[in-house]
Amino acid sequence: MVDFDVGYSVDQPSTWSRFKESLCHGCSANCCTMPVEVKASDLVRLGLLSEDETLTSLKKPAQRLIREGFVKSFRASTGLFMLEQKSDRSCVFLDSQRRCTVYEKRPEVCRLFPVYVGPKVGYCPAKRLSTQSTNRGAASGSNRKNNWGSNNSNSPKT
Ligand code: SF4
Ligand code: SF4
Repeated sequence: MVDFDVGYSVDQPSTWSRFKESLCHGCSANCCTMPVEVKASDLVRLGLLSEDETLTSLKKPAQRLIREGFVKSFRASTGLFMLEQKSDRSCVFLDSQRRCTVYEKRPEVCRLFPVYVGPKVGYCPAKRLSTQSTNRGAASGSNRKNNWGSNNSNSPKT
């Protein structure tokens, strides 16, 4: 049986559950509602940025990615891009079944959270998936957050 923390809040790491991989199989992927900062290399892997574009100023491609709806903001001082979020705060790459649509190419931070990075390393905002809201047999999914299992990420997960 899984121990989801019913009193959790994504914004309050003190309420999070101690992470274990089994939690991801029935979870609504709340970690994917946290702000996600990614590097240019992540965007190259995602096919959103070309290698050539990384050789000069990133400001121009950042403006393009903002226009295209993939990126919310860019910090020139760190070279980090904040991924766009939907109105419910979920990541632009999270689908209606609460699955990552770019799992194989997901950003590095998404591979590291919460085991190696995050506001509270080793803990995450696990919340049981509502079958009513997702209309999907079980979130058990192969492709869901099991992903996060060994390597997860999300937040300025850092
Ligand atoms: S890492 Fe993400 S998907 Fe896995 S249990 Fe935690 S919040 Fe849920
Ligand atoms: S795992 Fe996928 S859906 Fe979740 S935050 Fe990362 S890119 Fe977005």
